[in-house]
Amino acid sequence: MGPAGTKAEHGDQDEQSNLTYTDRLTGLGNRVRLRDKVRQLAADRSADPAPFTVGIVNLDGFKPINDLFGQSAGDEILCQVAHRLKACVPDGATVTRHDGDEFAVILPLVFERNGADRAGQLIKDVLSAPYDLGDRNVRLSASLGFAVYPFAGGDFEDLMKSAETALYRSKRRGRGQITVYSREIAQEMKRATQLEQALRNAIINDTVDVHFQPIVRLVDGRVLGFEALARWIDPDLGFVSPAVFVPLAEERGFIDTLSETLLRKAAEATLAWPRDLFLSFNLSSVQLMDPRTSFNTLSILNSVGFDPRRLEMEITETAVMSSADTARRIIRELKDAGIRISLDDFGTGQSSLGRLREFTFDKVKIDRAFVSAITTDRISEHIVRAIVTMCKGLELEVVAEGIETEAEAEALRQLGCGMGQGYHFGKPADSGATLRYLLEHHHEFAVIDRVTA
Ligand code: C2E
Ligand code: MG
Ligand code: MG
Repeated sequence: MGPAGTKAEHGDQDEQSNLTYTDRLTGLGNRVRLRDKVRQLAADRSADPAPFTVGIVNLDGFKPINDLFGQSAGDEILCQVAHRLKACVPDGATVTRHDGDEFAVILPLVFERNGADRAGQLIKDVLSAPYDLGDRNVRLSASLGFAVYPFAGGDFEDLMKSAETALYRSKRRGRGQITVYSREIAQEMKRATQLEQALRNAIINDTVDVHFQPIVRLVDGRVLGFEALARWIDPDLGFVSPAVFVPLAEERGFIDTLSETLLRKAAEATLAWPRDLFLSFNLSSVQLMDPRTSFNTLSILNSVGFDPRRLEMEITETAVMSSADTARRIIRELKDAGIRISLDDFGTGQSSLGRLREFTFDKVKIDRAFVSAITTDRISEHIVRAIVTMCKGLELEVVAEGIETEAEAEALRQLGCGMGQGYHFGKPADSGATLRYLLEHHHEFAVIDRVTA
């Protein structure tokens, strides 16, 4: 399928403008065409601003197709997608393609959310049918984000930004999702932006803190190390959970700054502890896609004077899945420097067992969901038993997270789980309280302290 029209029909001028407006691969309009169409529609309706809808269509998991089957297979699929989109949108609609696997539709006669949802459902169904590549069939899904003019944006840029926000939300919910930009989303965006500003200020003013939670040997309760956990109390917003502000910093692109601040603080605090204790630090999944992570990490350790062999990095399965090659390289560089790697929240992600073979982990942390059910639910007990046995076979250390009662600790001991962490042994506490905890719980430290006092 090539661009419509032949040379004979067009003069040089037309040829030129054709190229300006056309995506060469699919023959659809490109982003310039999209912009012009949207502006034109908005202008047509300026007297009586009747709504219309713009949607962005993004294929899920398209990149691996190019990697696995080659560029031409990818191109073939994009052409088939273009074809299907043109065939399924209503009369008067425009379909365009931007870079890569992203398409847009302008729907002049869709005025509100339900209409956009229906159009989205149809597009999604049409695109989910198998793609014929000659020697094989490939299945793909598509994520969609819609924005209705003028509510979601009065000009092209704002409207597209809203559609992109909606698409981003679809992607975050998984594959094949449809989102229409709404008042609630607008409000959430506003709140997120306020939160972002406050968090950026907190980083600059150095008011984001790090707390430490003990990780103990289960047989005798001996403290082996601590996990660093970010803490932030904003003067106006109050306590904000890291489960909220870490993803926000990831989304808004400053997780590296936040994480570097936290690692520096954590490493500095750890210098005051007995040397045999390790520090466990959470690495964000976004950092595992950033090639600078290992260098930045090692520079911080170096400037603090912290021995990398005392550091463990906690990573999650989603992190190693999203960008496997970069992640693998970062992990190798960290390991070469002596840093150990733990797999956090084990059991909650996808394809966990394969990952264990592919990546070289040192430790597995069993997710709290299994631990808190272990005394009441036989299935959880079996799962934990299986994980512990498997880790023994693979010579991996194993930590149970979120132990809240002695009964849970005892059950885990019985199953042969080596280490534990949870409120039962100690809640996350600031660096001062952690030192006091060590004075009480760490034999060697108590002795040193008495000698030096
Ligand atoms: P995580 O790494 O799985 O951390 C364990 C979470 O479980 C912590 O929540 C901890 O306070 C909580 N917890 C520990 N023991 C118990 C227990 O016995 N019962 C219950 N109910 N909870 C327990 P927190 O501090 O709210 O952190 C939530 C998540 O935020 C962490 O999960 C981690 O994914 C992320 N996070 C925290 N600090 C950082 C950080 O410095 N960097 C990055 N990238 N992520 C962080
Ligand atoms: Mg963790
Ligand atoms: Mg965890």
